[in-house]
Parts: sequence; structure tokens; C-alpha cells
Amino acid sequence: MFLLRKLILALSGSTAVRDTVSRAPITKSVVDRFIPGETTADVVAAVVTLRAKGLQVSLDHLGEDTTDRTTADATVDAYLELIAALSAVGQVSGSEVSVKLSAVGQALTAAPDLPAGGNAYALSGALRIADAAYAAGARMNLDIEDHTTTDQTLEVLFELRRTHPDVGVAIQAMLLRTPKDLAELVGPGSRVRLVKGAYHEPASVAFTDPDQIDLAYVRSMKYLMNGKGYPMIGSHDPRMVAIAAKLASDAGRGPDRWEYQMLFGIRPDEQERLVSGGRTVRVYVPYGADWYGYFTRRLAERPANLLFFLRSLASRG
Ligand SMILES: Cc1cc2nc3c(=O)[nH]c(=O)nc-3n(C[C@H](O)[C@H](O)[C@H](O)COP(=O)(O)OP(=O)(O)OC[C@H]3O[C@@H](n4cnc5c(N)ncnc54)[C@H](O)[C@@H]3O)c2cc1C
Repeated sequence: MFLLRKLILALSGSTAVRDTVSRAPITKSVVDRFIPGETTADVVAAVVTLRAKGLQVSLDHLGEDTTDRTTADATVDAYLELIAALSAVGQVSGSEVSVKLSAVGQALTAAPDLPAGGNAYALSGALRIADAAYAAGARMNLDIEDHTTTDQTLEVLFELRRTHPDVGVAIQAMLLRTPKDLAELVGPGSRVRLVKGAYHEPASVAFTDPDQIDLAYVRSMKYLMNGKGYPMIGSHDPRMVAIAAKLASDAGRGPDRWEYQMLFGIRPDEQERLVSGGRTVRVYVPYGADWYGYFTRRLAERPANLLFFLRSLASRG
């Protein structure tokens, strides 16, 4: 399983593989299981459906590793359009936007007219999104990407929190640095989405054994639940879901003081079951045309997702 995951994540970087998979007609129907659509209208329709079921939402305009300013600016504009569209249909309050800093310029290299480099560019884009989100009554969360970007992402987070203290961040339990990062993120009101980690990381910086990752996840959950912030438990793992409930109860946290988060299309029945049991559940909904990186990470996470994809290819063959 570990080797399969490593292989898929490695292949996801290949342009040839990317082009072949993206163009295969069947890919689209499989992708639809994880992504409600490419347009703002598609995602707004999904928000209406999910919220009618009592689910909360966090919306991600797909894109990552952007190396040109035009694309980075277009991503910021897409978020602004989304926030306006949610407002127009009365769905903005309580909604969240999730932003990958590499989509808004973090990966740009310094240039004579950009002496402070990509992270400063990403900060200014993220600030525009945060300003619009909080003015409209929504909130914002930063996704976390591979370990080489963690320092920069936390730098941007702390800058954003100067004006918008509610901005949250995802943290990967698998990284060895995480206990130190969490120590800076358990203050009053600090919103932290704890995830296991979706990137292929070297053993020098991360746990690579699944059991060790699970143990690290439980330790981190415990730490967050006993802190003063707002823990967001981003996992589909039934064991983590059960342990989170127990830890929250032990820490005296009611359903308004922490939440579960799951991805669109993954364990939807469980999402609704948790809501009907009185839990707060937020669904992370990605949308947009640049779905390839997100899609391959979902395939790498779970052999069943890959088998579903391969079976669909074979049945069309
Ligand atoms: C809301 C949200 C936001 C995220 N944001 C980030 C981020 O910013 N950065 C990042 O690196 N990662 C992010 N991730 C991905 C995360 O790091 C993991 O890669 C991903 O969630 C898989 O780990 P898991 O805990 O869900 O379960 P896994 O360890 O993958 O699986 C454990 C068990 O969960 C159950 N399960 C898992 N998937 C399924 C499924 N499809 N159907 C049925 N059962 C299933 C099975 O019982 C499985 O054995 C995010 C995840 C979520 C839910």
C-alpha cells in the first residue's frame, strides 16, 4: 500500500501521465464523485444541497503550484466571485473558504519587480480573499501543502491573523515538527484543522508508518481538544472519528466548540449520521478545472478509490 501510494504520488508529477489521465473520457465521470463541478454555479448548487442536510461547508477553488501571476490573480478573483455568489443566495454566513497558498503565488520566484518573492505575493492575495470573506460573514482556512512550505504558510497565517484572528490552518499529524507547531496554535479561538497528511514526505521529516501516523494523530487531537482553540478533525477514519468524540467529551467540549471535517463524496452517509447525532460536520468541497493534483491524492490515499477508477476504465474498454 505504501509503495502504491508512493508510485501514484510520483506519477502525479509526470506531465505525460497527467495529459493521458486528464484526457481519458472516463476520468471525468470518476472525478465527478469527488468534485461537484468546475464552475461557481456548480459549487453554489452543492452548497445549497449540503446545507439543507445540516452540513457546513469549506470551499476550495482547485489549483496549486502556480508559477505565473496571471493564474495566481485569477484564483484570487475566483474566490471573490464565489463569496459574492454565496452572498447572493444567502449562503455566505457560516461558509468557509479553503485556500492553498501555492495557488495564489507562493511558488513564484523573486523577480526585480517582486523582490519579496512568492510568499509575499501569496500573502497579499490571501489577504484580499480574507477581507472579502470576513466582510461578507464567511471565514477562511489555509490548506497545508508539502513540508517544504510549512514555515512560509505559518508565516502567512500569523500575518493574516493580525487583521482576521479567526483564520484557520490545516496541520499534518504525520510531520515530526507538528507538536512544536501546535504549541503555537492552541491559543484562544485558534482554529486548527488536523489531518493525517496527503503528501509523500521523507522519513527525515515525517512518520511514514501508518500506525505511527495514527498514533501521532491521536496525540495531536488530544492536545488540541485540551487547548483553548477550536479543533477541526479532518479525517474519514472511523477510529479517529470515535476517539475525537471521546476526547471532546473528556475535555467538556460541546458540539459548538469543535467539528468534524470530511471531503466531498467520501463517506457521505457517515457525514449525515454524525449530523443527525448532533455533531458539527463541515464538508470540504473542491471545485474548478484544475482537479488533477487533488484527484491523484485521493487515489493514492485509498486502494478502493484507485480500483473504482481502474474498474471504470476497464468497463469502458
Ligand atoms: C476536510 C479535509 C481537509 C484536508 N486538508 C488537507 C490539507 O490541507 N493538507 C493535507 O496534506 N491533507 C489534507 N487532507 C487529507 C488528509 O491529510 C488525508 O490524506 C486524508 O484525509 C486521508 O486520511 P484519513 O484520516 O481520512 O483516513 P485514511 O488513513 O486514509 O483511512 C483510514 C480509514 O478511514 C476510512 N476511509 C478513508 N477513506 C475512505 C473512503 N473513501 N471511503 C470509506 N472509508 C474511508 C477507512 O476505514 C480507512 O481504513 C484533508 C482531509 C480532510 C478530510
